[in-house]
Amino acid sequence: MDCRPKCLAVLGSTGSIGRSTLEVVAASQGRFRVSLLSAHNNLALLEKQIDEFQPEIVVITNENAGKIHRKDVKILYGADALGQSVQAADVDIVLSAIVGSAGLQSTICALESGKTVALANKESLVVGGGLVTTIAEKTGGRIIPVDSEHSAIWQCLKSGKQTEVEKLILTASGGPFRRFSLQELEKVTVVDALAHPTWSMGQKITVDSATLMNKALEIIEARWLFDVPVEKIRVVIHPQSVVHSMVEFIDGSVVAQLSPPDMRLPIQWALDCPDRFPSPARKVDWTEIQRLEFLPPDPERFPAIDLGLEVARLGGTAGAVMNAANEVAVHAFLSHQLPFHKITSICQFILKQHNYERTPTFAQLLAADRWGREETKKCISR
Ligand code: NAD
Ligand code: MG
Repeated sequence: MDCRPKCLAVLGSTGSIGRSTLEVVAASQGRFRVSLLSAHNNLALLEKQIDEFQPEIVVITNENAGKIHRKDVKILYGADALGQSVQAADVDIVLSAIVGSAGLQSTICALESGKTVALANKESLVVGGGLVTTIAEKTGGRIIPVDSEHSAIWQCLKSGKQTEVEKLILTASGGPFRRFSLQELEKVTVVDALAHPTWSMGQKITVDSATLMNKALEIIEARWLFDVPVEKIRVVIHPQSVVHSMVEFIDGSVVAQLSPPDMRLPIQWALDCPDRFPSPARKVDWTEIQRLEFLPPDPERFPAIDLGLEVARLGGTAGAVMNAANEVAVHAFLSHQLPFHKITSICQFILKQHNYERTPTFAQLLAADRWGREETKKCISR
């Protein structure tokens, strides 16, 4: 067995996933060493992380966030510096946990240099799934899912062959408004939307979980990660967030992965697999759980799921446009410029307007992302 610690680059280290990753590293008894950190803001936390984990390189992607002056580490600034550092870094795993389509460039740089990417940044596959998976195939770079649903599916798939898979069943908590009527959804506030019933996460994904747009993104993510036709992907509402997803095989057997909602487990699995070690994540308390419910999603109140299926079928530039519209709409909702129930309908509207391209280059994906953002901003200001 190789006893050398695995070297990590943690991109987005000050975020929810970044912080959980560093907790996994701290509890790993030397299995991991951090050699690169990146963050966009919160330099005070970044400095604490530098003190604790002593990376060789730190990249501050936001050039207006301020400066860190220290001699014990090489500090670089800007998104391009991050791409170059990731490409050049001598690391075993790049943990991609930047939020939004801003994470695409560094995911691509890691894969172009044949690295293994532990992927939390689902937007990389939503925006550029075709391109990202083609690059990985070409270079031998690997993508290991961090998202809890995809981590669960990855583990369940070990029970059978790819040709024996009947369905991938993604579970969704249903978010805080699972029981809300259409009228009630019109009155949702930012404070309501940020109070997720089961998961503690960054703001963007918390709002995505409330609209179920997070599940739309995850349908697209699953389509690319597991290379299955969209017809084999289903979504089931499971309010307890204990079953993280399931695989149904052709004989009717359904295999599920269960654990409390705690991202430290899928993060650790992505970093350690195929091996397992004791983890800092919470364990299932079998004396506590009373019931596990599974309910069909309601497409009328939560149209995001059908939108996700449609975009997954379309591929090409559709994901970039839908994601851009969603990022702008969520930002507008968080700054009180857009009501909650308009987030998904704006994404549907922008998607219909766009000039679809089936096999886009990186430049075309960036252009689609830009176009989607500009059109959504115009639409909101009207
Ligand atoms: P977050 O907002 O808590 O953190 C985001 C991180 O990215 C921070 O370090 C921030 O400094 C950095 N960042 C922000 N904008 C940036 C930019 N323009 N360029 C470079 N870096 C930037 O987000 P999060 O909740 O940790 O989510 C990160 C990713 O993981 C998202 O793609 C999300 O969908 C995915 N994810 C999160 C969870 C979760 O539990 N939080 C679960 C599954 C998947
Ligand atoms: Mg998820």
